[in-house]
Amino acid sequence: MSTLDRRSLLRLGAAGIGSALLTNRAAARAPLLGTQAPAFHRFMIGTIEATVVSDGPLPMGKPAAIFNGFPPGEITKLLQSNFLPTDDIVLEQNVLVLNTGEKLIVFDTGVGTSKSFGPLPGKLPSTLVKAGIAPGDVDAVVISHAHPDHCGGLVDINGQAVFPNAQIYISSADLDFWTDEAKLGSQLKPLIETARRNLLPLRDRIVFYKDGQEFLPGVHALAAPGHTVGHSMFMIASGSETFCYAADLAHHSVLLLEDPRGEFVFDTDAKQAAATRVRMLDMLTSDRTRMMGYHFPWPGLGHVVKHGEGFHYIPEPLKTVL
Ligand SMILES: [Zn+2]
Repeated sequence: MSTLDRRSLLRLGAAGIGSALLTNRAAARAPLLGTQAPAFHRFMIGTIEATVVSDGPLPMGKPAAIFNGFPPGEITKLLQSNFLPTDDIVLEQNVLVLNTGEKLIVFDTGVGTSKSFGPLPGKLPSTLVKAGIAPGDVDAVVISHAHPDHCGGLVDINGQAVFPNAQIYISSADLDFWTDEAKLGSQLKPLIETARRNLLPLRDRIVFYKDGQEFLPGVHALAAPGHTVGHSMFMIASGSETFCYAADLAHHSVLLLEDPRGEFVFDTDAKQAAATRVRMLDMLTSDRTRMMGYHFPWPGLGHVVKHGEGFHYIPEPLKTVL
């Protein structure tokens, strides 16, 4: 500390201000606020206005409980070298909303009213409104696959449609698999129950997308099986721009990119999921496609590059003006 600094501080101290500033937080004019900015982020894809809206985080607990197939010690090493906690994996839920000018489209719906992931998620209805998006204005809801954190927000606590005017898009393979009554006796029961509760009441509004099909203006389905039988990603094109909503191609932006052959316990076919992941990440890397991951760190936007035997995710800078 320079003489000048010390002298100034001593002077403040003599006035009784310095000591209060340095030792007594209660004397601050402003209280701690304890709140975060409303969780939405807006950006453009060509002429399409895109908004990412959070449903809130999913705390998943210890990495060993949800990831398999990594060499011993690799998970801890990867998390430590990326300055992430090694004992608690937290997955975000980044919901993409597109206004194409013709259609207002929501991709995946969060966990809805389920409390199985604790009190933090289930925020989509309120964050949508904070982002200026009225659920009644939504024309289309695209479900990437029928897991509870993707289709769980289709109906409210009373079983009524959260998006009363929307057509619902999903693969027929996932609708069949996850609403199958025969699986209620299996260990998949809680997942089947959530899918049945959210999808069956809306059955007459459901339209199936097919691999490669442009089923909404500028929105192309791309089958990415393994995580579930019908799990799909979506390529969104406008003008000269292409954007990939990768859904659950990878659940962790470090672990499953750096080592894409690792496995996630909720994969229906983990080996197929890993092969799909490598193939799709290869494509996104070669084409330098801007992408988004549903469970990536908020708001999940960036690019992937090749790195060693795997890949590396580079989040994009967030703009403060559109
Ligand atoms: Zn998911």
